[in-house]
Amino acid sequence: MTSIMLENDLTHIPASVRRWLDRAPAHFIGGEWVASRGSLPVVEPSSGREIGAIGKGGVEEIDMAVTAARAALVAPEWRDAGPLAREAVLHRLAALIEARADDLALLDCIDNGMPLWLARGIDVGGTVDVFRYYAGWPSKLAGRTVEVSAPPGMGRFRGMTRREPVGVVAAIVPWNVPLMMAAWKLAPALAAGCTVVLKPSEEASLSALALAELVQEAGFPAGVVNVVPGLGSEAGDALVRHPGVDKISFTGSTATGRAIAREAGGSLKKLTLELGGKSPTMLFADADLDRAIIGAANAIFLNSGQVCVAGSRLYVEDAIYDQVVERLQAHIRSIPVGAGMSEGVFMGPLVSARQRERVRSHLDAARAGGLSVDAAADYSDTSGFYVAPTLVTGAPHDAPVTQEEIFGPVLGIYRFSDEDELVAAANGTDFGLAASLWTRDIDRVHRISDALQCGKVTVNAGGFPYPGLPEGGYKGSGFGRDLGPDAVEQCLQTKTLLIHVS
Ligand code: NAD
Repeated sequence: MTSIMLENDLTHIPASVRRWLDRAPAHFIGGEWVASRGSLPVVEPSSGREIGAIGKGGVEEIDMAVTAARAALVAPEWRDAGPLAREAVLHRLAALIEARADDLALLDCIDNGMPLWLARGIDVGGTVDVFRYYAGWPSKLAGRTVEVSAPPGMGRFRGMTRREPVGVVAAIVPWNVPLMMAAWKLAPALAAGCTVVLKPSEEASLSALALAELVQEAGFPAGVVNVVPGLGSEAGDALVRHPGVDKISFTGSTATGRAIAREAGGSLKKLTLELGGKSPTMLFADADLDRAIIGAANAIFLNSGQVCVAGSRLYVEDAIYDQVVERLQAHIRSIPVGAGMSEGVFMGPLVSARQRERVRSHLDAARAGGLSVDAAADYSDTSGFYVAPTLVTGAPHDAPVTQEEIFGPVLGIYRFSDEDELVAAANGTDFGLAASLWTRDIDRVHRISDALQCGKVTVNAGGFPYPGLPEGGYKGSGFGRDLGPDAVEQCLQTKTLLIHVS
């Protein structure tokens, strides 16, 4: 059996991936690589070492990218290509990503810290699926023909509606599943005929830049996809404010989402916001406990809790509470934690020192508040950004650890005995992204899922995104939807034609 390492060994990285790591900082604008005037470090999460640099875009680069996207929007190569040509190029991109899946997965494993299996299966596998799903959409988009009753004396009329792309989409994404988050924005926008400026997260931009290469290879016309890495406060802010942007599609924290909504409100840009969550898992005594306990643990420890829909609050029915806590205490000590490239690893480090400090400060505050904080291990001496799987019990409903998104491997566990109280507690945060329910009682499934104020309810299983099913939030978790028909719909606008028939 190979032992699990805490640091990735980067000495034998294939040349095909090394090339992406060693690329000089640049932006992909108008189908060309434009050298960046500034740079940001790429820090490898398992070691904390700097291993490369990415471009640091600002007002000028964003302006160039939006200008390129606006030009591409009306260039005949894209606007008049026709739906089947758009489908073909999306399919080619999916195939190219699939062919380079191992390389892309390794890149995100190194950049983001996630285990290789997760990068391969969800991040890159999910990206291929999303491009394939949306590749089927262009030829199915259609308007309507409407028979019209005109006012007396005006003659015969026919009405038609036409679906048109909303225009230039600003896609701003986080670092937690870097390639797939980019794909969730790009694929529906491109299927709708929009053009895109993508601003990946400064914490993990490498796979978005690699994707730009594949976009070029797939044959998208120049300017249809542009990628400008940089800081949120610089490149992100410039993109949100740019008058050439028609729609902002943002995934990230609720705080940033609020700031973006204020700006979009002023300029009346269209907006989709996929924000944070504090999703409850509800575990009833009649559930299949063996599956439920693993499911509840995976819901929070997968990707080290850096998942928007992470099940960060576990509500356990009174009769099984002690047993479930005991089993989870044992389970967290069996979770293999280590560097993403190590075989057998389930959980890697967090993405950055900053994220580790955020999580640690939540745990310090919980301890200071007298809560029971049970960490499976202590990684305070490692240079990698590790936080152990951790359980917090006894937290009151209004405690920060119950109310705030931690975005780390921290599970709050709560006891319940009454269904109405459970629903009130589950709904009792500012968020409303997702929930999961473990019970064999079908009436209860419907009763509770109807009462939950959130965008997605998973029953008796760990959740996963499927391209045909929308993802998104109620309340403070945002509005609009990624994935499904909803996402392509939100990249279209309707034009009505009223035609006199003589
Ligand atoms: P973040 O809000 O700090 O950053 C997200 C992106 O926004 C980054 O690209 C960043 O550079 C950019 N940004 C930051 N400030 C900006 C500004 N003022 N103007 C424009 N852009 C700006 O979030 P994060 O820490 O990178 O990501 C974690 C958050 O993302 C969590 O809250 C998580 O729940 C959320 N998330 C939500 C979903 C979902 O589908 N709902 C999915 C994944 C992550």
